[in-house]
Amino acid sequence: MTDDLRRSCPSWCREPAGHLHPQSGGPGDCHAAEIATVRLGEIPGLRGATPPIHVKIEQYVTDATAYPPVISLDFGGAGEPSGSDFLTPEEAYALAAALRQAVITLRTAGCSRGGQQVPPSAGVVPGRQAEPGR
Ligand SMILES: [Zn+2]
Repeated sequence: MTDDLRRSCPSWCREPAGHLHPQSGGPGDCHAAEIATVRLGEIPGLRGATPPIHVKIEQYVTDATAYPPVISLDFGGAGEPSGSDFLTPEEAYALAAALRQAVITLRTAGCSRGGQQVPPSAGVVPGRQAEPGR
């Protein structure tokens, strides 16, 4: 990999400029962007206290290869091992469409959380923004 490729970040990366340090012949490094955190409240009878889901974009890069970026869903809590699942953009889009369809189905039937309407942004905390001047 050239020094230029090693130093430059894709436009979506929110890490500090020059953060990437893949080792020659060794482990790679990741471009990353935290997109949002989805807080999960207790659902009596179904779910107790649950860590939030962190939605990120990550791209693994070695000294020889930049792999396609993926969307990660990190289910790990603070101090716990990461429980990430990785989706291609196409898989994430299909999952988002399926979840949206399920929500629309319930809202159309007037069955949102306990019969109350929940605003679309409820429980979602945006990730940090890109560093200025990038
Ligand atoms: Zn980067």
